[in-house]
This record gives sequence, C-alpha cells and structure tokens, in this order.
Amino acid sequence: MHNERHKQAAEKLIFEKSVPGRTSQVLPKAGVAAKAIDKLLPSKMVRKSGTHLPEVSELEVVRHFVRLSHLNHAIDTGFYPLGSCTMKYNPKINDAMAMLDGFKFLHPHQPQDQVQGALELLWNLQESIANIVGLPSVTLQPAAGAHGELTGLLLIRSYFEEKGDTKRIKVIVPDTAHGTNPATAAMAGFEVVEIKSNDRGLVDIDALKAALGPDVAAIMLTNPNTLGLFEEEIMTVQKLVHQAGGLLYYDGANLNAVMGLVRPGDMGFDVCHLNLHKTFSTPHGGGGPGGCAVAARKELDPYMPKPMVVKKGDKFEFDWNRPKSIGKIKGFYGNFGILVRAYAYILANGKEGLCQVSQDAILNANYVRHILAKQFTLPYTQPCMHEFVLSGNLQKQRGCSTAVMAKRLLDFGVHAPTVYFPLVVPEAMMIEPTETETKETLDQFIEIMQTIDKESIESPDIVKNAPYNTPVLKLDEAQAARKPNLRWQPN
Ligand SMILES: *Cc1c(COP(=O)(O)O)cnc(C)c1O
Repeated sequence: MHNERHKQAAEKLIFEKSVPGRTSQVLPKAGVAAKAIDKLLPSKMVRKSGTHLPEVSELEVVRHFVRLSHLNHAIDTGFYPLGSCTMKYNPKINDAMAMLDGFKFLHPHQPQDQVQGALELLWNLQESIANIVGLPSVTLQPAAGAHGELTGLLLIRSYFEEKGDTKRIKVIVPDTAHGTNPATAAMAGFEVVEIKSNDRGLVDIDALKAALGPDVAAIMLTNPNTLGLFEEEIMTVQKLVHQAGGLLYYDGANLNAVMGLVRPGDMGFDVCHLNLHKTFSTPHGGGGPGGCAVAARKELDPYMPKPMVVKKGDKFEFDWNRPKSIGKIKGFYGNFGILVRAYAYILANGKEGLCQVSQDAILNANYVRHILAKQFTLPYTQPCMHEFVLSGNLQKQRGCSTAVMAKRLLDFGVHAPTVYFPLVVPEAMMIEPTETETKETLDQFIEIMQTIDKESIESPDIVKNAPYNTPVLKLDEAQAARKPNLRWQPN
C-alpha cells in the first residue's frame, strides 16, 4: 500500500506536479516594458491571462521525461524484430555528425554561398545513393517513404503526360505490397490493379501478363518482397512491363538485403525510393522525422521535384530552372539533420561495409527462420533475404493467436514482430532481426519464441492473458483507435 502510494506520486503528470512560483528558469529582464509590447502588437495578439504551463523545478522536468522515456521500447533498450521496418541500431556517431555547429546552426534561408558545405554533403549523398541503386538522378527532398512513392509516381505520370500517352491510368500492385503502394497509386490519380502471388510467394507471371496492356502506366514492386523473398523472375517481369510500354517502380523502403549485391537500376527498374530511416540507420518510430531518397533513370530526370542540388564547377547550388518539374514537394529541402546522419552511416561503412551489412542481415534472418520452422509454420520454404514470415496457425488452433503471442513477447522485453502482414499469410508474423544483433540475442529470441510455443500447448491461458510486465497491461485497442485520448485535461 505504502509502495503503491509512492509509485503513484512518481507517476503524476507534469501538470499535477505544478506548484505556483516554482521554476526551472531564470530569464533575463525583458528589454521592452510590458506596456510597450501592448502598443507594438495588435491587441488581439496580446495575451490577456497567464500561460497555464506547469511550474516545476528542473529536476522534476528531467525526472518526468526520463521516466516517460523508460516506458517505451526502443532499439537502445531491447531486440526489435519489426519486419519491413528495419529497426537496426542507430550509431551514435551519426548524431555527433548532425550536431556539428556548421550543420546544426544552419538556417534554410541562408544565402547559398554560406552553405556550400551543406550543399556539398547533399550532393555527395545523392551520388552515393545513385551508385547504390544504379539510377543516376536523385532527390533527397521527400520527408519519408510514402512521400517518396508519391514523388516517384508523379514523375511517371508527368512522363506519360508529356508523351501524350494519357490512356495509361493503371498501376499494378502485387497482393504482398506494403499498404502505402496502392494508397500512393490512388493518391497520384491512378487506378490500382492487384495481382495475386503464385504458390511460392512471388509475382505470378501469367497474372502479370493478363494485367498488362496499353492502359498500364507502371508496376510497383518490392524486391525482396514483403515475404522476404527475392523475385527470381525479375528480369522477365521487367521485360514484360517494358514491352507493354509501362515503367517499373521499386519500393526500396528497405534495402537491407541487397546493398552491394544487386541494384534496382540493373534489375530494370526506372524509379525507386529508399527510406533513409530504415537501411541507412536514421532514427524512426517516434525517434525523429524520416528521410527519403528518390532515384530515377535519366528519362525521368526533367520531372524531378525542384530545386535539385547540382554541382557547377567547384560550387554547389539549388537549381530551380526546371520547367518540366513536378514542383516542390516539401517546404524546405528534405530533413537535413537526417540526411547528415545517413551520409555519416554510408561513409562509416564504405562500399564493402554496406555489402557486409546486407550479407549479415540475410544470414541472421535465415538463422532464426531455420530454427523457428520447427515450432511454427513456414509458408514459403525457400531461403529468405533480410526477413521472413511465419504463420501462427498451429498456435492459434491451441487458442493462442498471433495477436496474443505478440503481447506475450512484450513480457520478455522483446518488441513484437510485424503481425497480420503481409495479408497473404494467415496469422502472419514478419520477423526482421537486422544485422546489428549478436548471435546471443538471436538465440535468446529463438528461445523466447519456443517458450511461447510450449506455453500454447501446456498453459495457453498464460499466453492469452499476457502481457504481465508492461507499464500498461491489456489495452482496449478498438477504443484507442476510435476514441484516442491524446492529452491531459484538468478535472
Ligand atoms: C516502411 C515502408 C514503406 C513506407 O515508408 P514510410 O517512411 O513509413 O512512409 C513503404 N514500403 C515498404 C516496403 C516499407 O517497409
């Protein structure tokens, strides 16, 4: 009881800790008298009452936010095998580079001759990405993956519009595609045509042939696809699509399986996007803004969003003179601090290092896949790339669905895999260990999964009632989505 009271006191919200007059700041005296401010500002902008901010000491503020941060699961605190999201370690050197004064104190409206170093970094990053994906024209303007997809599809739309080929209104998307693909195609004004995968989880060539025609603008593909499987027939796919007059869009949100091994450009793709906040180790999942590169073949370059960062002699500049451009797609150019981090990651690894990253990611995924296939159903048995998908259908028959197993994993300090996606696998668990985990961590995860499987046989109620060790226990997820309670309100 006594303990409970102390715990509740510690968990008070910051507003509830407020005591009038308590403060963390000693502000310098204002240089302007309050009365003068009243005269300088339009009266409707002058505050009539106090700010109602919590009045707390600095230590209270620090404790409050550090305590909250401990309630989160993060890659810095535990294993995070969230498939398709590439929750790899974000090296601290990236942050140190982004925090250099010359980067962190820049203003986006500074004259270009004062920001040559920043522009050079952007240009170098573009060049690195162009090499990694094998497509020459690169923009770093989009804010995240789905935004990059939209950029890419608008390039495709402009390309066909200029050719006067206005019949191409369809975009083909396989049934394993990430949900953003059909959403983006629709947002860019296309009609979405879904094609089924074959029994090996790959693009069904006959279904593709049937869908192709003079009304198809593009196909959006992820390779490896979201089942973690490499599209072995990709060269046939690209030939068929190009023969039918369409273009290929590569969803490279996650490039962790192929860096230095194979390039989207060499596989015949015309445009692709990369999430810097997956493969290139910049923070995500509540950790910061995203970052995205879109790369395209030279035929699509004229439509790239403006401005483009270009090199003229030994100077760098924003090129606005792009009459066919789809226009600006973001307020300022990219999320600059994130771009610095991604460039630091690329430089720190180098060409061989990035190739090693992909090889280790593949090795780790296959190691875990191979062992867990004994307890869990593996719907596609060929070797995987950086991730793989299990089905929890056996465990579900014992009363322990994937949803409850995902909750049980939390009790062991592990984040759940991506669940119920891709849709083609019932009770799906999509597991992406990433290359940054040790064999000991992978073994621990395997053991936890085996424990949960054993519980599903011997004591399914333990799994069904989980979690037990998390700051909040079972949540009403339907109400959380329908009636979200996002802010503190006074009683
Ligand atoms: C993460 C992801 C996306 C979307 O990226 P966001 O940055 O979340 O918009 C698209 N496609 C695939 C395959 C992804 O894994």
